[in-house]
Amino acid sequence: METERIVSGWKRPDDWDLETSLRPRTLAEYIGQNKVKEQMMLFITAAKQREEALDHVLLHGPPGLGKTSLAHIIAAEMGVGIHNTSGPAVERQGDLVAILTSMQANDVLFVDEIHRLSRAVEEVLYPAMEDSAVDIIIGKGPGARSVRIDLSPFTLVGATTRAGMLTSPLRDRFGVISRLELYEIEDLQAIVQRAAKILNVKINEAGALEIAKRSRGTPRVANRLLKRVRDYAQVKADNFISLQVAQEALAMFEIDINGLEHLDRRILATIQEVFAGGPVGVESLAATIGEEANTIEDVYEPFLMQLGLLQRTARGRCLTKRGYEYLGVTPPED
Ligand code: ADP
Repeated sequence: METERIVSGWKRPDDWDLETSLRPRTLAEYIGQNKVKEQMMLFITAAKQREEALDHVLLHGPPGLGKTSLAHIIAAEMGVGIHNTSGPAVERQGDLVAILTSMQANDVLFVDEIHRLSRAVEEVLYPAMEDSAVDIIIGKGPGARSVRIDLSPFTLVGATTRAGMLTSPLRDRFGVISRLELYEIEDLQAIVQRAAKILNVKINEAGALEIAKRSRGTPRVANRLLKRVRDYAQVKADNFISLQVAQEALAMFEIDINGLEHLDRRILATIQEVFAGGPVGVESLAATIGEEANTIEDVYEPFLMQLGLLQRTARGRCLTKRGYEYLGVTPPED
């Protein structure tokens, strides 16, 4: 089965090759997320000493934070093979059985968007994760019988932007559940500097810091901005990214000093102008803007909330005082 390419959220087809070349290959190259990295190193070392498969790992957090990269690193550090698929790509139980029975001992099965597996397919995973076995039904009607096939031990690495949408039987079968957080500016700066080296473009510390500050805490965004600034530097600035070059390029691409772009501003302005500052449900907001509710929730909101411009309440989304100030509007008295 081929890995499904994800063409939503921050991933676009033209980023694919860039992403594979910029992907960190080892835990040492994986910048930031120190808590997760330290734990993972411990579990990997212990599993290797026992010559066993690593326990099943669930990685969750917003898109572009390095879940896929980490899954590949886990396989590389364990010295085992990796099989890639995603929730929506596995349509039938048989598809998953075919993948599971083709895996070598201790291999990693990476399932991106694992919350989108169908219930029927998910049920195949339960005995696979717990007992390294799958049950298949042979025949039809009254003569049908169930046959158990033993699998090689393996590690399931699941990635999701929505840990809350996982069923509890599936979630309970993961031995390690790690949440990836938005990155610190210094980590993003280091990511930009590393990527610039790989892309063969000169950048100074201030230039890298400027890109980092506008990257919404997200390595994928940092790499994308770097790529665009690189184009600008190549044509207008001798292939060198200084603070000034970064600022000019990012202003031209309409990324503001907080990293907010056109759609962020539309979200805030729509809540203020159309919904009187909120509360408004994400579905109504999405319909008004003409964007997917999932994209607003997964990609835009986490960062708007981190900046304190937007608040999620039980009744819907509301602008905060700071949100009004950002729009240059006086907040209402209450
Ligand atoms: P996710 O699966 O969470 O959407 P990815 O693993 O595809 O995210 O990461 C997106 C890109 O960001 C990668 O191609 C890689 O270049 C970069 N990246 C992510 N995490 C890191 C990191 N910790 N260090 C360096 N680069 C990273």
